[in-house]
Amino acid sequence: MLNLNKDDPIILNDRQKKIIRKFGRLEVKHWRRNEKTLRIKIRDDLIGKQNECCVYCGCTVFDKGDVEHIAHKASYTQFLFTPLNLAFSCKTCNQTYKGEVDVVAVENPVYEKCVFKMVHPYLDDVDRFFDTTRITIRIRKGLSKSDYKKALFTTELLRWTSEEVVFKREQQFAADKFHKEHRLTPAQHVMLDKTVTYNQYK
Ligand SMILES: [Zn+2]
Repeated sequence: MLNLNKDDPIILNDRQKKIIRKFGRLEVKHWRRNEKTLRIKIRDDLIGKQNECCVYCGCTVFDKGDVEHIAHKASYTQFLFTPLNLAFSCKTCNQTYKGEVDVVAVENPVYEKCVFKMVHPYLDDVDRFFDTTRITIRIRKGLSKSDYKKALFTTELLRWTSEEVVFKREQQFAADKFHKEHRLTPAQHVMLDKTVTYNQYK
């Protein structure tokens, strides 16, 4: 999981704020309104902040990816455009793994005061919970009981010990190594990563 800086989330510009204000009480349908100015701009800003990597599995996203609402957008419409609730993720982590699971334990009108069941990429220090090697993401030893519970919930939700995710991270590592050795440009990475497997570079 990317350890995102809570003091440096995306910043909504005046035009975006104005549109959001006009919506009034937020509803999930607003996420698809004025998409160019809102959803797509937000996604592009997040891609820049996260260097094209998925917030959860940490791998480079080669399709358009998703804007992930950490507190689910249908259940917590008040946080639809709250920067700390927004991260860029791959479709698998967002739609297949996390889905519509409610990760809020205690709701609060102030986003940062909500209590989350999962480790939060902005509000928690991710590295305190997980030991992330190039391939595995393991729960650190010595956590308090409640922190361990939160870490375990996160690991299971995002299937970090599954063959699928381990394989994906393995491929990513091999690809990174290949790119470095061959000094490829980001555009070349994208072209190659769609067609080549990097098993020989592990
Ligand atoms: Zn992912």
